[in-house]
Amino acid sequence: MSSDWINLEKKYYAQTVRRQPIVIIRGKGSTVWDVDGKEYLDFTAGWAVCNIGHNHPTIVEAIQEQSLQLIQTSNAYYTIPQLKLAEILIKNSCLDRIFLCHSGLEANEGAIKLARRYGMTKRDGAYEIITALNSFHGRSLTTMAATGQPHYQEKFKPLPSGFVHVEFNDLSAIMEATNDKTAAVFLEPIQGEGGVNIPSDDYLKNVQTWCRQHNILFMVDEVQTGMGRLGSLFGYQEFGLQPDVMTLAKGLGGGVPIGAFMSTNNAMSLTYGDHGSTFGGNPLTSAAAYAVTKHIINNDLAANARTMGNYLMNLLESLKSRFPFITEIRGRGLLIAIEFDDDISARVLEKTNDAGILLNAVKPNALRLMPALNITTEEITQGIERIEKALTQL
Ligand SMILES: *Cc1c(COP(=O)(O)O)cnc(C)c1O
Repeated sequence: MSSDWINLEKKYYAQTVRRQPIVIIRGKGSTVWDVDGKEYLDFTAGWAVCNIGHNHPTIVEAIQEQSLQLIQTSNAYYTIPQLKLAEILIKNSCLDRIFLCHSGLEANEGAIKLARRYGMTKRDGAYEIITALNSFHGRSLTTMAATGQPHYQEKFKPLPSGFVHVEFNDLSAIMEATNDKTAAVFLEPIQGEGGVNIPSDDYLKNVQTWCRQHNILFMVDEVQTGMGRLGSLFGYQEFGLQPDVMTLAKGLGGGVPIGAFMSTNNAMSLTYGDHGSTFGGNPLTSAAAYAVTKHIINNDLAANARTMGNYLMNLLESLKSRFPFITEIRGRGLLIAIEFDDDISARVLEKTNDAGILLNAVKPNALRLMPALNITTEEITQGIERIEKALTQL
């Protein structure tokens, strides 16, 4: 029974996350089942993680095979899966070097350390990093400090210093914030957690140009936008960019915990002893991530994300025309938000849960959709029917 497990969580687990009252026990593709046998279409995909769907044979087989060979050794030795993963990511991106870790915050922490070393060695001791308001970069002390949302930070002060927050999608704010201490600008190509905020077409390109002119690193947090979600393998490609540094996590392992920061040779200012990790790029997670990455590339799931994203956005637009409290549909690829004229997300989510579709209330007045990249038109059509049913019952 769901309620048994929900009570156990109340009793034992740190009460830091408000959960939906659903105990998920199994997943296949874009469908999950709860402990009571109810079926849901999963339009959250493990939080933009399960990009090839739940328990795809590609990832299941990679985990099975690698677990028979070697699960963990140490980065004191060479291991093959992490090198295969390094090679496929570098050959398919504009970056030259990679460091593997386990999560988004850890990838960003590494990128921030890299920027500090870059500033120290190549820009006269500069250390400041410019980030955007409404951004999200993680929950460690340093990545919280980088995150431009004060409500994450207030209870945990003092935070590490050296971050300057500016309005997203405003080049002049970055120009004004730049000074001799600036080492890097660090942005999500599209702000995910902040509400699926899409910048104007030339913003990121102009920021990149500004950074190049001032010998400042242009760094992108692609923890959510990377691995095909926006319609290209990496989100920066959607905007015609060539960042100096990129971070990945969420979709990289298709469900196993793995992250990465990547950089150009010029930007890679970390050297022996500067960074390390016991589990980073471990054989098991790397083998899974390599199989998932190869599958995304070989099946061009990024292109499918674009096609399915357009299909989904069109159907959502037609919902908007029928439900006047929907004020906006926005998104790119399969990262999409539905905005309402009032703070009704929580109430809508209760109804969508009942109707059998999992969504995320990204803001009090907005829902986020981030399904698997290999979702089908049938699953999308069915998902829209369930959302429509829920909206009718508000
Ligand atoms: C989720 C997310 C993070 C944090 O990743 P974790 O794995 O939860 O630490 C950082 N940046 C962005 C853009 C994210 O979406």
